[in-house]
Amino acid sequence: MHDIGNRHMNPEEVERYSLEDFSDEETTSFDEHLLLCERCRMDVESSDAYLSAMRGAASQIRQTPPRVRLRRAPALKTTAAGNRLA
Ligand SMILES: [Zn+2]
Repeated sequence: MHDIGNRHMNPEEVERYSLEDFSDEETTSFDEHLLLCERCRMDVESSDAYLSAMRGAASQIRQTPPRVRLRRAPALKTTAAGNRLA
C-alpha cells in the first residue's frame, strides 16, 4: 500500500479521505503522502472545509425545532423551583 505515497491523490480519493472512507492502512499511506505534499494537503483542506460547511448547515436545520421549544423551558423550571421552595 506504500505506492500511494509516491503519487498525488485524485479528487475522488481526496473526498473519500475527508469522509474517512478508507481502511486504516490506506489512511496511513495518504497521511504519509500528505506530510510531504502541500498540493494534496490543500486539496484535502478545501474538501474538509466544504464537508464541514455542509454538515454545519445540516445540523443547524436539525437544531432549529428544539431551540424554539427551549424558549419555554426556563419559565417552567422557575415555577417548579418556586413550588418546591414554597
Ligand atoms: Zn500529492
